[in-house]
Amino acid sequence: MDFWESDELAAHRDAARAWAEANVEPEWAEQQHTTGCHQTVEMHVRLARDGILGAGWPAEYGGSDVDPDFARAVFDECALRGLHTDGWSTTVMVARTLEQVGTEAQKRRYLPAALRGELMVALGYSEPDTGSDVAAAKTAAFRDGDSWLINGQKMFTSTAQVCSHVFVLARTNFNAPKHKGLSLFLVPTDSTGLAIQPIHTLGGQVTNATFYTDVRVPDTALVGAVDEGWDVMKVALVYERGVGAPASLTQTLSRDLAAWARQAGRPDGMVAFDDPLTAERIGRIAVDELVTRAFTKKVNWLVHKGDLPGIEGNMRKLFSSEATQRHYSETLDILGADGILAPGAANAPAGGIFEHAFRAAVVTTIYGGASEILREIIAERHLILPRNRPH
Ligand SMILES: Cc1cc2nc3c(=O)[nH]c(=O)nc-3n(C[C@H](O)[C@H](O)[C@H](O)COP(=O)(O)OP(=O)(O)OC[C@H]3O[C@@H](n4cnc5c(N)ncnc54)[C@H](O)[C@@H]3O)c2cc1C
Repeated sequence: MDFWESDELAAHRDAARAWAEANVEPEWAEQQHTTGCHQTVEMHVRLARDGILGAGWPAEYGGSDVDPDFARAVFDECALRGLHTDGWSTTVMVARTLEQVGTEAQKRRYLPAALRGELMVALGYSEPDTGSDVAAAKTAAFRDGDSWLINGQKMFTSTAQVCSHVFVLARTNFNAPKHKGLSLFLVPTDSTGLAIQPIHTLGGQVTNATFYTDVRVPDTALVGAVDEGWDVMKVALVYERGVGAPASLTQTLSRDLAAWARQAGRPDGMVAFDDPLTAERIGRIAVDELVTRAFTKKVNWLVHKGDLPGIEGNMRKLFSSEATQRHYSETLDILGADGILAPGAANAPAGGIFEHAFRAAVVTTIYGGASEILREIIAERHLILPRNRPH
């Protein structure tokens, strides 16, 4: 595999920058920062309008002829402007899962709607007592005539406040073993009995608790077979770790820091880059960025081939999230006292983005599979080491 950017990719980057300059409003990043909502609906509409959401999807399900490399470059440009697209990331995870396990009717109904920007899906897996042990979910779904009634509570249903649906993991059989008796449902967020309450987090993101009281959905909302939801989750989790892992700000951090260090004066008349420790730290960050990019390329290539990037996705998620935390910790050390100036403070370096990113990075090793869990999976399934906990 050649890791250098081809001329074609560089052209996509230029075109993506032009798209972002024409379409991304400068106030959106500030709005995301103040509201804590990591999805901007107006931008989503523009991405859908220009076929960027549909890039790389089959035409029969609403895919566009936009080049996936251009689309990826557009998302990179949005991230570089401080914009999160978390609602779209979770939607892609669910859409890819539907593509693998959904009925033909579900694919024809939900996939084109997602690519038109009309359907956005939040993940309703975690509960107050179940996070890493997601298969222990207690939210109940019982058949009632030709529909289902859902009762329970989910924690951390991120971006549900702007999503049209939640992908809800529910228990449909309380007598079966833990990994049996689960089922997944696509539940509209405007359903009677569904309540959404905000949860404010250290990283500034506002996620949600979602409450389900006799929420009724039709049989067509069931994804996969009844009681066989763990098979669906195995696919969904692969896409979560492979596609949804954090990467955004780390892509240019070393470049941005190097630019700062070349001109940041010190009392002895030298610049920050003259300190060998600073130069070494920035160099290490640059290496991590390249490794993250290599993992990302491998995962994207596997998805493009139609493979499930299981182990590769876990490795990418583990490496990039831990690298992200290291990077912002190092960055604050490099910047010294100025580094903890928050967005809005006078003279905050890069508008306070580093202070914000340091806080936001904390969660990256927790959600989408905690590092400890990912290490266990890699140890057991890739290195074939013995399982270190009881079955
Ligand atoms: C900001 C934020 C957004 C989120 N968004 C979503 C979302 O959109 N949808 C959703 O469904 N969930 C979401 N989550 C939930 C997230 O996936 C869980 O927090 C995560 O799975 C960890 O679960 P937990 O919080 O219950 O911690 P626990 O599972 O209780 O883990 C606590 C600690 O114990 C360790 N641990 C647990 N089990 C093991 C084990 N077997 N071996 C070794 N160590 C172990 C963990 O690694 C961790 O360090 C979000 C969480 C946050 C904080």
